[in-house]
This record gives sequence, C-alpha cells and structure tokens, in this order.
Amino acid sequence: MRLIAVGAATIAILGIGFLLVALAQLGYKDTPFLPNQKWRVHESQRPQPVTVTPAQTFGEPPSDAIILFDGKDLSRWRSVWTGGPARWKVENGYMEIVPRTGDIQTIEEFGDCQLHIEWCIPEDVKGSGQGRGNSGVFLMGRYEIQILDSYENKTYADGMAAAIYGQYPPLVNASRKPGEWQTYDIIWIAPRFDGDKLVRPGYLTLIHNGVVVHYHTPIMGLTRHRTFPTYRPHSPVGPLRLQDHGFPVRFRNIWYRPLKGYDGEPEWRDLTFLLFPDLPRQ
Ligand code: MG
Repeated sequence: MRLIAVGAATIAILGIGFLLVALAQLGYKDTPFLPNQKWRVHESQRPQPVTVTPAQTFGEPPSDAIILFDGKDLSRWRSVWTGGPARWKVENGYMEIVPRTGDIQTIEEFGDCQLHIEWCIPEDVKGSGQGRGNSGVFLMGRYEIQILDSYENKTYADGMAAAIYGQYPPLVNASRKPGEWQTYDIIWIAPRFDGDKLVRPGYLTLIHNGVVVHYHTPIMGLTRHRTFPTYRPHSPVGPLRLQDHGFPVRFRNIWYRPLKGYDGEPEWRDLTFLLFPDLPRQ
C-alpha cells in the first residue's frame, strides 16, 4: 500500500515537473532571430497577446471597443460649427442628420484605429447624383469616405458611396438599397508628419457591407471638391466627423479600437524597406 502511495506521489511530482517544463518552453530558445525584431523564431518569451472577447455577432463591439454612439444620446459628440451640443436627432436607436444644423464630431480624438459605423439613407430619398443622400465619414475630421445613395444612382466614380472622396472610387459598388442599413468597417493608419514634412501617408482599408473596397490604400491628402489633394500637417489624433450635406441620413452602432504595433509597440511600423532594402521602389 505504502509503495503504491509513494509511486503515485512520484508520478504526480513528475507530472508537475513536465508541466512546468512545458510552460517554460512554449517555444524555442535556439532558433534564429527574426530580422529587425528582438525575438527569435517561435521564442517562448515573446509576449502573449491580450485577450479580447469578440462580439456574438459580427459588427457588434468586441470587449475592448470604445463606444462612440450606442443609439441613446449624442453625449460624445458636439457641433462643429458652435462647439456646443450636437443638434442631430436621436430616436429608435439611431441618430439622424437634421439638415443645416451642420457637421458633428466626436469630443474624443484618436488616430490609428479599427472603426465600425452603420448608416442608412431613408427609403423616401429624392434627387440624383451627388444630390441623393449625401453625407460623409471624415477620419480625423479631414479625410472623407463618401456616403451617398449609390444604388442605381450614378455620379462621378470618385464621389460615389465608399469612395475616398476625389481620390479613389471603391473597387466595387457594394451599395444596398435606400432604407437598408449599411456598414463601413475601416482600418485606418493615420499619416505622420515631422514638422511640416509628410513622413508617411495615411493608409485606409475599407470593407463596405462585408466587401473589401479599398485595401492599404495610401491617402493622397485632404479630400476636397474639384481640387488636387494635398496634405496639411496635423497631430496623430483627430475627431471622427460626420457630414451634414443637407440630407437626413441615419447612423448607429459606432465604435472603434485603437490600433498599436506588435508586442505592445506604441504604433504600427512599415518594415517593408527595412526587411527588403533591395526591393525596387515602384
Ligand atoms: Mg459627402
């Protein structure tokens, strides 16, 4: 009996030992270093990513999202004209533009991010071309992703729904009918300036209603009407701005997640030419 107990204890100790060794050696210590990183290939000590609980339904905010509009009030927004309270209407879980009250923007300012926003052009929309359900999502208050009824409504391509206004049309037209809710899922890397000099353009990836319409697209500068886009230096953060273009467009479920670099680095770095210095610059 005593022998069996000793045997069991030995097995238990050995088991814990193996477990500890396994924990200490999630990976390897004898592999080569990755270029431009302080980590070896499969290194055990490389920090584990933070756990985020995804939403039950795609489009709903995951656990680390910062909510900008939850359908209840505009407390996180203000009028761009007055700096005072945003004067758009809130009802039935959405906000609706009250034409000619002006653009609104978030009090909060942020830079590199994953952003989700839903919008809807009411079913009884009238007009044509640019005059049909026009609004816009201005990243950092400056760079417009167009909102328009582009369902069987033609306009210039770089001014249709999901266009980076005046710069790039969407790759495809993924517009839904007026009266239906539409989604923009955005991955935004803000431009960087060193004093007055642009050192990296902004990059945009946009998924419209689940369809990729821009990916890692370099922004040319401020999005403007009938004018060549150029950059004007600004800080690496800015507000999210929504445009009052005179149409009662609706918005709901707006949230973002700040994006940082790998292994807790403060920001994403473009390593392309560090890793591949001999690549031809196209
Ligand atoms: Mg617009």
